[in-house]
Amino acid sequence: MYMQLRYGFRLYPSAGQRTALAKAFGCARVVYNDALRARETARSQGLPLPKTGDLSQQLITEAKKAPQRAWLGEVSAVVLQQSLRDLDAAYRNFFDGLKGKRPKTGPPRYKSKRDSRQAVRFTANARWSITPGGKLRLPKIGDVRVKWSRTLPSTPSSVTVVKDAAGRYFASFVVETGPEKPLPQTTPEVGIDLGLGHFAVLSDGTKIDSPRFVRRAERLKKAQRDVSRKQKGSRNRDKARIRLARAHARVADARREFHHQLSTKLIRDNQAIAVEDLAVKGLARTRLAKAVHDAGWSAFVSMLEYKAARYGRTFIRIGRFEPTSQVCSVCGVKDGPKPLHVRTWTCRACGAVLDRDINAAVNVARAAGLAVTACGAQVRRALLPAQRREAGTHPKPSPIRWEQAGIPGLQAGEDVNSTASRTSARSTVRSTRR
Ligand SMILES: [Zn+2]
Repeated sequence: MYMQLRYGFRLYPSAGQRTALAKAFGCARVVYNDALRARETARSQGLPLPKTGDLSQQLITEAKKAPQRAWLGEVSAVVLQQSLRDLDAAYRNFFDGLKGKRPKTGPPRYKSKRDSRQAVRFTANARWSITPGGKLRLPKIGDVRVKWSRTLPSTPSSVTVVKDAAGRYFASFVVETGPEKPLPQTTPEVGIDLGLGHFAVLSDGTKIDSPRFVRRAERLKKAQRDVSRKQKGSRNRDKARIRLARAHARVADARREFHHQLSTKLIRDNQAIAVEDLAVKGLARTRLAKAVHDAGWSAFVSMLEYKAARYGRTFIRIGRFEPTSQVCSVCGVKDGPKPLHVRTWTCRACGAVLDRDINAAVNVARAAGLAVTACGAQVRRALLPAQRREAGTHPKPSPIRWEQAGIPGLQAGEDVNSTASRTSARSTVRSTRR
């Protein structure tokens, strides 16, 4: 399985190179907007949409000859062509979204000098390269200093140069890569419950604290206040705005770093990982929104997914079949909803004392057909004698009555840890997701 990965590196352009890049950003934006205007005009007049080839001729080749667009000649033509292709892609995504072929996106929008992200893309035929001295050679810009924080696994096919709101420059390379040499096989399989109290709780009982970067970053609040205090349009407000953007960028970096480290560790330590497909979007609209955004679950889950694919691990996303807090992960009895403030409870059927988050993580793993023991869900040994024996040794997980956990097609008491029923549990979960 081959996949495209992005590798980002910090760039340190010289003053002259920054000017050249500003020109490239500006020209790419102008061509993009000109093409968008031409298409929208045609559309409003009911005319056929102009073709990219025609637009290229008209908006780049011909336009350069006119004095008011002569400066387009100062920028690599490939960058401008790419701008047209990017607009094509934006239209394609928009129409595919309308047809339901992919998630809905808005129609292409005009780009502005004030956008927080400026970018130009250099494809293979732009003759960009990496010099023997390790600099990034960009046509009509020069050899830009790069901080190579890690090695590229293979030759990249394209590079996007980005300037963010904090005024930092990055090179983002697209690399086609095959799977890594799979990590050595390991036995543990784990279910993960992503929660608000903790960032993640694992079915083995591990709780990983939520890094509340945004709320801890007091500097961010101060920077925010500074911006609103400064007069609109003033130089000082601009400066304060950049300081705020820098503070935000630091928080985003810290969060990404945390996600990378945790996802790498989980992939290395476990053979299979199951996560509940959270309706994060639904949560984000509530007042929990801030906590959800801080936690950045979806970014984290997609890291787990691609790393699993790269390193030969199994990644399973289970659908929301049943609220995981309503089922006892030890005996499988569903004993109804519990308000959010209830963190532990005793199962009335088997007497196990359950921790809400760990119980959920075990149920996630079970629903995905993973072999995990329920012991992690218990905060202490249950008092019933029969249970004490089980909780003490755990030679193998007690079977769960799956029909009570809401998964059709499995009989009560069926051993979910045999290969056959694991596969069927997995495929059942897949089919209920649709
Ligand atoms: Zn129970």
